[in-house]
Parts: sequence; C-alpha cells; structure tokens
Amino acid sequence: KLEKIDINEVLKRRLQYISPILSLSYKEPIHMVRSAFQYMYDADGNTFLDAYNNIPHVGHSHPKVIEAGKTQMAKLNTNTRYLFDELAIYAEKLLGHFPPNLNKVFFVNSGSAASDLAIRMANNHTDSKHMMVMELGYHGNTQTSIEISDYKFNNPKGNGQKKHIIKTTIPDTYKGVYQKDNPNAGQLYGLDAVAQIKNSSVPISAFISEPIVGCAGQVPLPKGYLNEVYPAIRAQGGICISDEVQTGFGRLGEHFWGFEASEVIPDMVILGKPIANGHPMGAVVCTEEIAASFEKGVEFFSSFGGNPVSCAIATAVLDVIEEEKLQENANAVGEYYTSRLRELMHKYPCIGDVRGNGLFIGCEIVRDNSKNPNTELACHIKNELRRKHILISTDGPFDNIIKTKPALCFSKENVDIVVNAIDEVLKTHYNNV
Ligand code: PMP
Repeated sequence: KLEKIDINEVLKRRLQYISPILSLSYKEPIHMVRSAFQYMYDADGNTFLDAYNNIPHVGHSHPKVIEAGKTQMAKLNTNTRYLFDELAIYAEKLLGHFPPNLNKVFFVNSGSAASDLAIRMANNHTDSKHMMVMELGYHGNTQTSIEISDYKFNNPKGNGQKKHIIKTTIPDTYKGVYQKDNPNAGQLYGLDAVAQIKNSSVPISAFISEPIVGCAGQVPLPKGYLNEVYPAIRAQGGICISDEVQTGFGRLGEHFWGFEASEVIPDMVILGKPIANGHPMGAVVCTEEIAASFEKGVEFFSSFGGNPVSCAIATAVLDVIEEEKLQENANAVGEYYTSRLRELMHKYPCIGDVRGNGLFIGCEIVRDNSKNPNTELACHIKNELRRKHILISTDGPFDNIIKTKPALCFSKENVDIVVNAIDEVLKTHYNNV
C-alpha cells in the first residue's frame, strides 16, 4: 500500500527531487488520486469535471482498456524482435482507419518520438533536411521535434530558429491578414505559403502541421489551405506530414482524422496521446514508398515500441471508440458545446471567437470590442473554474485562449456545467468592472 502524503509534502518532494521546470497547473495545484471517465478525484475527496485532458480519449481508467492491459501484462510483454499476435492485429486495425495508400506503421512510445522518427524518415526519403513548419506549431520534446516547434524554439527561453527551418505564417482567420469574412481566406493563405515554397533556395524535405494548431490556441487550418500547400511541397520533391497527436481518433466528430476535413491525404501521419488512452505510445503511419526508403537505412528498433501490452491497450481503445459510438458522440456533444459557447460569445464582449470541431474547442478571450488578448481574464476564468471543480486550460502565444478537449464520453449535461460556470464567472466579472 502506498503511503498517503500531504499535498505540501508532495510539492516539496517534487521540487526537491525533480525541478520547477516541470510546470504545474493552477495557482492552487490539485493533488489528484483517482480518475474515472470524465471525472477526476483529489486527495480531499473532491470530484473534478475534466473538460481538458484529451489523452484519456475514451474516458479515464476505462474498464475495457484497463482489462486489456492487465490481461496482456499477465500473459506476455516483449519486444518486436519476436513474433506475437498483438502487433499484427493492432497494425491491421489501425491502418483500416486510413486511406489505402497510408498502409505502413512504425510504433514508438510518445508523440515526440513519433515526430522525431517522421522527420528522420522524411529526410531519408527526400535527401534534404529542410523543414517547413507552422508558426506556433508544437510537435514534441526531443531535440529534433523542438527544432520543428516554433512554440518552443521561438520562446524567449528557447534556442531560436535553426537554419534548416522555414517557418510559414499561421492561417488564422480570426486575427490574421485574411479573415472569416473572406471566403477565399484559406486559399490566399495557402498561396502565400506556396510563394514561400517556390522562393526557397533549397529543396524542402517536408511540411508539417496539425490540422487544428493546438498550441497556437486551437487555430484550424481554413478550408482550401492544404489544397494549395500539399501539391506545392510535392512538386519540389517534399512530403506532407499531418500531426494528428491531438486531433486524431474521432475527436473532431465529423472525421476520424483531421486531414480529412481538408480533403487531402498526407504522406505521413504522427499519432500519440489518445492512441492508448494514457499508456505511453506513439506511431508514424506512412506510404509504402516512404517505408521502402527507410528500409534501406540502418535497422529500426524501439525497445518498447509496438510491444504486446501497448498493442492490446490500443486495440481496446479502437474497440471502445466503435462500440460506444464515441466519434458520433464527439460530433453531437461538440456541436452543442460550440453552440452554447457561441451564446456566451454574443452575451459577453470578452469572448472574441469560438472555434474548433467536435470535442476540440478554443475560446479566445479578448479586451472588450477588440481582438487584443486578455490574458488576465483568461487566467481568471481558468482559476475560477478550478475553484468550481472544473478543469480547462489556456494556451496560445498570449495564453488567452481557453482550451477544452475532454474525453469523448463527455455529455451535454457536462457541457452545461462548464458553460454555466463560465457564464457565472463572467457575470460576476462584468458586475465588478
Ligand atoms: N504533437 C502534438 C501536436 C502535441 O500536442 C504533442 C504533445 N502535446 C506532441 C506532438 C508530443 O507528444 P508527447 O508529449 O507524447 O511526446
């Protein structure tokens, strides 16, 4: 039995043995002890509604996922140098969710490792190392993934942009040069990126982006954007990578993968976070041609990547998504969520924009009657919701976008709890100004 430790002691040991470089949510941190579906429980017995964490995709501690892990752990765990059923079963099931030309998969243990591997494979395939990356994009914590993550390298404490990185402007239709009132905004942003590709003095190995740029504050790539960028990248010999670590597995409701909304097919897809509901796993899905170039290089081996336990858990995740119709739920509840948040947007001038798809939503908090960020108010909303036992987060370059991306079992009743709480916080805020 684990000893029960007081919250201050937990914090003290964390600072003593690890480091404050591990960031901590909230002014008043929470001492979590247990979780189930969309709920988390702290050491004082409080129940929190988790409207934030997209990793426990089918719900925290889902019994079917837990059972799959327990059973497989008790039976066999080893590495891919032996043959075992679970790898073949999962690879086939996962690839069944992709278009036919994305038919190869390599397993690792995190989204970062997947990004890293994807870049290595892209460079191998194209014989170039120049990457086109999205402004404010984030793809992971390894050396290579930080180099392709503007969110990190462009941070005041970051190491800056490397010479082989070409950064393209985020196609933000709320604050950018082309906005929602322009029906061709996506195409125009795309054409600007194409001009950059054509003007590049070096061949670009790959273009990488998320379909909805999470760390930028849930900024969706507008319709028409990728339809310009992908062909231009390919025309000069490069490949197109979709980072679906946040957006994949039915979260966006209408589509299983984010790239489907743009009616494009990438050459490579990066997976992580929800793939195994919190068990550490990542994957790179790619075309036969890219896999063939990779095969010419040095052996690929990951001690834990694609092990039987991970594969059994990930298989259970796909089963649950299907059995519980979670993509359909993300669609219905997501639509309701966005419509309720839009009601608030019409009520309070500090909500400038509500965007996203399915259960992947951002709410931009601004100074009244402007698009200028209101970081303090976003932080106030986050902390007030925490006091009301609701978990959400803030992100974006000014940390003024409220992010909500709950488990796909989130209900309309849960939505009402979150939206009514934001309503109350803002009512009090406006009464006090
Ligand atoms: N890509 C994206 C879009 C992410 O959001 C993240 C993690 N936040 C990663 C990659 C890296 O995943 P991990 O933290 O599992 O290494």
